[in-house]
Amino acid sequence: MNPSHDKKNNQTLQLNCWFCLGNKEIEKNLIVYVGKEVYIALAKGNLTPYHVIIIPFAHLTSLIQLPESVLEEINKIKVYLIKIFKTLNLRCAFYERNFKTPHFQIHCLQVPSKKYIEIKDIFLTKAKENNINLNQIPPYTHICQIISPKSKYFYVEFDDGEKLFANIEDNDFPINFGREVFCHRDLLNQPEKADWKSVILPKDEEREMVRDLREMFAQAEI
Ligand SMILES: [Zn+2]
Repeated sequence: MNPSHDKKNNQTLQLNCWFCLGNKEIEKNLIVYVGKEVYIALAKGNLTPYHVIIIPFAHLTSLIQLPESVLEEINKIKVYLIKIFKTLNLRCAFYERNFKTPHFQIHCLQVPSKKYIEIKDIFLTKAKENNINLNQIPPYTHICQIISPKSKYFYVEFDDGEKLFANIEDNDFPINFGREVFCHRDLLNQPEKADWKSVILPKDEEREMVRDLREMFAQAEI
């Protein structure tokens, strides 16, 4: 796979990457919003009707590589999502990992508001079970202050600003970690869906969710 430069969109894209906007491989039917430098798609094997991934157009892998303008756009999207989910009596968290992923992507998942209080503890308990050194970082610390360009990491940010971070040093890090936490019986209670590949949605259901999300983002002021 050779990086090439798409002059029209002025973005670096990687041929054959499933996430580079502009590549043929991308699943356009899952895209729900296209911003200036970032787009949003329904997650494949989504756990909730609002399980979306936030993805920069450009082929980047780590938060630390993102240009300031992309970070700003992502932050605006997060603020919008937090606000809209609260009106639906849902709370959310955003997680990502720079490990065995070809292209930077942030997952946004929601839980009913009354279950929100459980999330952080379940993240910490699951981390312990998996020997992952997941630690709280101060709310006003930006992750870019604690990682180096080559760091492999897992990072989760909650809608109240709390953040958990783990350096990934072990090649056995469970790639479904964030998803497994949300599948926990005390959160979404869908342990059978911990691996996204095990979730195959009927196409018409998927289409309906995409349509609803497109409507939701059509009204967004991002
Ligand atoms: Zn890419």
